[in-house]
Amino acid sequence: MSTLTSPTQGTPSARQMAHFAPTLVAWQAEHGRHHLPWQRTQDPYHVWLSEIMLQQTQVSTVLDYFERFLAALPSVVALAAAPQEQVMALWAGLGYYSRARNLHRCAQEVVARFGGEFPPTAAQLETLPGIGPSTAAAIASFCFGERISIYDGNVKRVLSRLLAFDGDLSGGAANKLLHAHAQALVVGSGQAMAMPRYTQGLMDLGATVCHLKAPNCGRCPVREMCAAHAADEAARYPIKTKRIKRTSERWYLLLLDKGDAVWLQQRGDAGIWGGLQAPLVFSALADMARWLQLHGGMLAVSGPSQVSPISQVFGASPELQALQLSDLVQPTIKHQLTHKELFLTPVVVPVAQAAGPLGVGEAGEQYVGAWVDKSQLAQAALPAPIKKWLLAAG
Ligand code: SF4
Repeated sequence: MSTLTSPTQGTPSARQMAHFAPTLVAWQAEHGRHHLPWQRTQDPYHVWLSEIMLQQTQVSTVLDYFERFLAALPSVVALAAAPQEQVMALWAGLGYYSRARNLHRCAQEVVARFGGEFPPTAAQLETLPGIGPSTAAAIASFCFGERISIYDGNVKRVLSRLLAFDGDLSGGAANKLLHAHAQALVVGSGQAMAMPRYTQGLMDLGATVCHLKAPNCGRCPVREMCAAHAADEAARYPIKTKRIKRTSERWYLLLLDKGDAVWLQQRGDAGIWGGLQAPLVFSALADMARWLQLHGGMLAVSGPSQVSPISQVFGASPELQALQLSDLVQPTIKHQLTHKELFLTPVVVPVAQAAGPLGVGEAGEQYVGAWVDKSQLAQAALPAPIKKWLLAAG
């Protein structure tokens, strides 16, 4: 392997400036992807929705969700007017639920501030909730022909190889510089009409040719001008010294089960399951036992013949409760997120059929949630692993 030492290394050459964009545009027309529903439209609502759904989620998963979402809420005005529960239910299973909450808020702002039409520039789009610079650039270039470059993981990989860009992309300064190079490489000022195809070409090249592990340089339309390919060093780029550290956590999920229904909390907006319905979450079994001791009374009904099993089981000492609770523990489910590995352990606690609403506990905490009929679980806005588990458990 050779080492690149050119003084202009990492900066677009005159040849790259002149030929990269036209080559990519021509390649996209002939060899790029055209089959995905959001690639056949310039409707900003569709492009925006697909961009948000595709963040951290694979194309094959997004396809179904995208069609279903648009069938239920066909316009930004319809989305703005929809209740949040409907939006969350349509999103349930896609993960990263702050995206759905921002989507809803964004639609409401598009209606309130822009009369129900997306603004045409990336600068204006970036003022909306959940729209970052790359998403704004994608919408502005796809739908309105603005000469602005997207800047996501695919683009960083392709351009850092094209330019043999040596900056460390775990830092802000190198990203700023590479982003500026990306901007310099877009189509010329007289060719704004080609911007949608250029943007799509950049995405397609990263997704289908310039793979992270094994770039297919033999099929690449820009290999003649690619500095990393010339130096046989594609695998060296992008340079990133800091890797994502994945942490792991165990969550115990309290499933209060009264036969035909389970109690689900309506979670607040924050956190990975924000806005969804989910069982109460505890970090230790002993915490769950303490909670049941404090709040179990809420679930019991009066009268000797109607005493809830929960009060029978959890009226004893905390040590005994934790022991008894361990009998109700179900096999753990592993759920992988980008930054976190979750080990989810359901604990199914049977309660009386006549158990009432879980409102304010003896300790004064208020619980917002409801008994959800088991026949309704498939439609509920539940996190994907919980829904899967509940439906399988029956
Ligand atoms: Fe990526 Fe290879 Fe194309 Fe360079 S030539 S952009 S390394 S696929």
